[in-house]
Amino acid sequence: MTYQHKGRCSCGQVSLEFHSSRDLPDQSPRQCDCDYCASHGKPILLSDPAGQLVVTSSQAVAKETQGSGQAQMLFCPGCGNMLGASLENDSQIIGVVNGALLDEANRLPACQIVSPKKLSAEEKRTRWLSIWTPTKIIVRS
Ligand SMILES: [Zn+2]
Repeated sequence: MTYQHKGRCSCGQVSLEFHSSRDLPDQSPRQCDCDYCASHGKPILLSDPAGQLVVTSSQAVAKETQGSGQAQMLFCPGCGNMLGASLENDSQIIGVVNGALLDEANRLPACQIVSPKKLSAEEKRTRWLSIWTPTKIIVRS
């Protein structure tokens, strides 16, 4: 069975759909301990390599390259909420969603604190390729 976890940013311009074989209480949310995340509201990172993430926006999503320069942080162009992060791998995009923006975020279990800043660029990429979610970013005006 696939669960469809829906969410949106505070201004409503971006909608999020996180399809996963796991319900929210069975997810493994992570919070990153880096300064960048601390200054962006400590997003709750959720992913499922067997799931799918669909980000739909009425304008191009704002992207900011961060850390090892591989992943891009995604922001709503309207309200600036951090939507998650994405990484291009060959022709595929994988990503994580900010679980705090999901409608039922209160059903998520406690976050595990992770420290990707301690990993090398190569180790990060390997980790992300194994746990991040196949992602589609759709701009629909
Ligand atoms: Zn917004």
